[in-house]
Amino acid sequence: MRILWLFLAAAVAAATPVAEDAGERAYAHVVALAGAAPRPAGTEAERRGVDYVAARLREMGYRVEVVAFPFPYFETLKVGLEVTSPARIALNPRALVYSPSTEGVLAAPLVFAALGRPEDFRAVDVQGRVALVQRGEITFLEKVENAARAGARAVVVYNHEPGPLVGTLTRRSSVPAVTISREEGLRLRDLLAQGPVLVLLVVDTWLETRTSHNVVATLAGRDGGRVLLGAHVDSVEGSPGANDNASGVGAALEAARLLRAQPPPWTVEVVAFGAEELGLFGSEAYARSERVRGLRAMLNLDMVGVGPRLLVGNTGSDRRVVEAALDAARRLGVRLEARRMGASDHVPFERAGVPAAMLHRPDDPNYHSPEDTPDKVRPDLLDPVVRLAAAVLRSPSVVAGPGTLQPTAFR
Ligand SMILES: [Zn+2]
Repeated sequence: MRILWLFLAAAVAAATPVAEDAGERAYAHVVALAGAAPRPAGTEAERRGVDYVAARLREMGYRVEVVAFPFPYFETLKVGLEVTSPARIALNPRALVYSPSTEGVLAAPLVFAALGRPEDFRAVDVQGRVALVQRGEITFLEKVENAARAGARAVVVYNHEPGPLVGTLTRRSSVPAVTISREEGLRLRDLLAQGPVLVLLVVDTWLETRTSHNVVATLAGRDGGRVLLGAHVDSVEGSPGANDNASGVGAALEAARLLRAQPPPWTVEVVAFGAEELGLFGSEAYARSERVRGLRAMLNLDMVGVGPRLLVGNTGSDRRVVEAALDAARRLGVRLEARRMGASDHVPFERAGVPAAMLHRPDDPNYHSPEDTPDKVRPDLLDPVVRLAAAVLRSPSVVAGPGTLQPTAFR
């Protein structure tokens, strides 16, 4: 795998000077980053991604620091869920990130407990059983802890929208918890409506403290003020992460090149965050550090190379970066819609009081799957994102001053 990666990187390096189109150049970075293995946080593969980004930014003339930070590493070693009665049905669960293990095979009756709120557990008896709950309204962790308090031995959360679900508890829960698709959840509810359902559940997971890295690249300006363009470099387990988020990193690298060629008067920082997928640890480490002081604005690129719609948004703390992006989009003739969006690296900056927003394409059928490969990412979709990102960081309105904030939860 390493040889393949080196070969691809060399091929891309050779091809880069000929491609003049911003989208094509950004796409070359996507191939280099996502052409080989997944890049889960705290692995060698993530580190290779970090080194690749640091090397490209150094070549462009940025001053580059690679900043280490600790985070809680998580890995699924084994996960299985099977109905044994009234019929044998194998399901396709995923462990929720930071779920503990079942310590062997857990065999127990399944009980449906609606949304997993405290009142839902007052209505049913889950003592010694496995609780089946629907995603939505409260966080995964709240559902799982409510179930544990009611005596459940484990929790199965089913998606409220079509497709599978990768979720994080954000910290270790009291009992094991897995997710399944909406289709599988509705199938279990059908079975429960007819009579008792017995399940076998196996969850074997690994948790330890590991090190990940942020690449912080600076292009010093003549005037005061500093703005940040960021994208996360890690992927989820089992997914090459071409759109999520080699696309954002590739677009940020290309925008960095454009900004180097025509810099604004203020300081520009381009940051590749590590360990986003498990819980925004890289952006959190930055937003909690001294570096956040004096930062006027942050623009995050996450999943920008697949799907027709391009969105800008944040959790609602401040409109400054959103408005700057909408203005820039009008000037450039790029179609852009504003939406509320959390769950990515702009959120810790919003919490720290820095005006921040994310550019994002929401329609990716291969999200967090092994099918998120470079052939799905389109250079012509990266192109407007590159130009927009550079334009936002050059907008005088983004260096105007600090803002306010509101927290988001994982649910
Ligand atoms: Zn992402």
